[in-house]
Amino acid sequence: MSSTVGQVITCKAAVAWEAGKPLVIEEVEVAPPQKMEVRLKILFTSLCHTDLYFWEAKAQDSVFPRILGHEASGIVESVGEGVTDLAPGDHVLPVFTGECKECAHCKSEESNMCSLLRINTDRGVMINDGKTRFSINGKPIYHFVGTSTFSEYTVVHVGCVAKINPLAPLDKVCVLSCGISTGLGATLNVAKPTKGSSVAIFGLGAVGLGAAEGARLAGASRIIGVDLNPSRFEEAKKFGVTEFLNPKDHKKPVQEVIAEMTDGGVDRSVECTGNVNAMISAFECVHDGWGVAVLVGVPHKDAEFKTHPMNLLNERTLKGTFFGNYKPRSDLPSVVEMYMNKELELEKFITHEVPFLEINKAFELMLKGEGLRCIIRM
Ligand code: NAD
Ligand code: ZN
Repeated sequence: MSSTVGQVITCKAAVAWEAGKPLVIEEVEVAPPQKMEVRLKILFTSLCHTDLYFWEAKAQDSVFPRILGHEASGIVESVGEGVTDLAPGDHVLPVFTGECKECAHCKSEESNMCSLLRINTDRGVMINDGKTRFSINGKPIYHFVGTSTFSEYTVVHVGCVAKINPLAPLDKVCVLSCGISTGLGATLNVAKPTKGSSVAIFGLGAVGLGAAEGARLAGASRIIGVDLNPSRFEEAKKFGVTEFLNPKDHKKPVQEVIAEMTDGGVDRSVECTGNVNAMISAFECVHDGWGVAVLVGVPHKDAEFKTHPMNLLNERTLKGTFFGNYKPRSDLPSVVEMYMNKELELEKFITHEVPFLEINKAFELMLKGEGLRCIIRM
């Protein structure tokens, strides 16, 4: 038993004191895990666009000071009362949405929207007692989506932790804890393209390229990548994207360009931008009669989706998903196995790495639209 069990741990965390200001590395106190909670030692974390959104406070009412971060890998340090399926030393991925295994959603084969632990971006506290486990000199520091991985130690509900193969390299599978699994699952589990079909991917960041990997694995014959940033196209060539489209190069709306390229529209589309106009284009570019569009990007808090209802009547389907419809505890270990079996390559998603003390560089890279995932080594 480690000597820290049951003790408050003081460690380094990157605190967001206010919206849009660089994170500050602080010494924080991390309380021991309570009932159905686990305390994790985070070894690697990476930056996903959702962290950037909430740091910029574009998608929410602001909750500050806060410890952001949700894409990560680590090791269980200690477990709270009632935790039976995790033990100190287990290798894990924390996930922003949970699986209690008891509610109607967890029992449904279709849903991963757990009633107890589904993503809640406004809540900055633990559900057991409505309090934070982080503090600085007694002042509470709020949590983010139940994970707060920009800290050497964090406390997470057991339902938001996937136990994985201990042989999996944590510096690589870290990116499966959000972005890549989200994109992959959005295609494989929700859009479900058939062999030989055409798929449009809007937004070629790590989430979109995860979606493109899903299309490649499903045997799609045309994968059309759409992005406003032309530097993404070079990167996307490694991901089986067959054609590239920059909406800025065309006078017509991009959905019309896609309809012309594909004799009426693509069979499937997956939107991974967070921009509502891209969401509308992604829906309107699918073929009538059978086309399915899947929304993944997190929209601006005031965004409204507008389309003519006739687009739906003409037998197009619009769907959305969190975490690619994967149930974190039940399904994520098998996504890790896809990497271990070399079905899925993760190295090509990891374009940068910085030490924890330089975490703000990861924000700068994402703001500039450079690279895909930046691994932050704790
Ligand atoms: P990213 O910033 O790396 O990539 C987004 C890409 O979209 C960029 O290349 C950008 O140039 C492009 N883009 C922006 N507006 C566009 C437009 N109008 N048309 C075409 N391309 C456009 O971000 P990421 O980490 O890959 O995340 C993508 C989105 O997915 C974000 O909105 C993020 O919040 C969201 N997300 C959702 C879930 C979920 O479970 N639903 C999980 C993770 C991330
Ligand atoms: Zn994410």
